[in-house]
Amino acid sequence: MNSDMKIKITKSPTTRIAEVDFTNLPFGRNFADHIFVCDYDNGEWHHPRIEPFHNFVLHPATMALHYGQAIFEGMKASKTHDGVPMLFRPERHAHRMNVSAKRMCMPEFPEDLFVDALSKLIQIDQAWIPEEEGSALYIRPTMIATDEFIGVKPSQSYKFFVFTGPVGPYYPKPVRLWAETEYIRAAQGGTGFAKAAGNYAGALYPAKLAQDRGFDQLLWLDAREFKYIQESGTMNVFFVIDGVTITPPLTGGTILDGVTRSSILEILRSEGKPTSEHPITIDEVVQAYHNGTLQEAFGAGTAAVVSHVSEIGYRDLLMTLPPVSERKIGPHVKAVIDGIRAGVIEDKWGWTVPVAAEELV
Ligand SMILES: *Cc1c(COP(=O)(O)O)cnc(C)c1O
Repeated sequence: MNSDMKIKITKSPTTRIAEVDFTNLPFGRNFADHIFVCDYDNGEWHHPRIEPFHNFVLHPATMALHYGQAIFEGMKASKTHDGVPMLFRPERHAHRMNVSAKRMCMPEFPEDLFVDALSKLIQIDQAWIPEEEGSALYIRPTMIATDEFIGVKPSQSYKFFVFTGPVGPYYPKPVRLWAETEYIRAAQGGTGFAKAAGNYAGALYPAKLAQDRGFDQLLWLDAREFKYIQESGTMNVFFVIDGVTITPPLTGGTILDGVTRSSILEILRSEGKPTSEHPITIDEVVQAYHNGTLQEAFGAGTAAVVSHVSEIGYRDLLMTLPPVSERKIGPHVKAVIDGIRAGVIEDKWGWTVPVAAEELV
């Protein structure tokens, strides 16, 4: 594997950008002009290239469609206030993609090539980065098994690709979570820590049942006792109880190692605010609710950064949390992360990676 392989660039002769209404950008529906693609077979990655955005032709027996060797990442490029496109902690996403790849018996993708591919793709499609505060260019790195074969075994060939699309400012309403006591998302020894496609398919049905009952998303509990809190949909979860910001630990391999989660913990620790990573039970949350010390709950993920939780349903109990205007931690960490991304708060961690502004070719 030669990871300093040069990316071949074929630019689109036209742009679709004029067809897109940048004043109304629903999440996940618009796609920029280019795609990065790289193929794997005979034990190595080859032909990294950026091409005009296009569809794939897939054989019906393409293994990813049958046995689920499919993983992805989700990240965002934004522009700082002075117009410089930048990525947020891309090397962490590159690493996590490989953690997922390993678990799903897929080949690792060179992390330096991952970051290089993203930088060049963003550079070429930088006109697609929306300028409005809070909006961004969403980036979706993906890897799928491409052997044309029926039978359960690891594929020998794979396709890695990255495409992007502009997304508007995300002002989520506070969410209502249902603590799920019948279905599970992840068990110890399973694939919960991987951003693997099948994890999301398995969650759709229980999430729909909760939505039918008026909740927005699930609060997943552990698979053995339905007692320990895991995470929520595509977000890690935090609780603020009596001034301490608590989130479940990564040990056990049942939750995703969120980049937002880790950034929030680092920010709070650097400010000397008390944090705790410990296995938190739903009973601990209920108890805090009853004795008046449950101050906040929020989800953390790339899409919204922070999603405040307004209510949590658990069995017969509906816990209503204090209004967002009274919260100290969730709004604060969101403002810090947004500020770092916009270049208005000093990035003392080196999380932002600027993408060179000049054209390549
Ligand atoms: C993507 C994801 C998260 C959030 O991770 P970030 O790196 O912060 O975006 C949390 N949980 C699950 C299950 C996810 O898929």
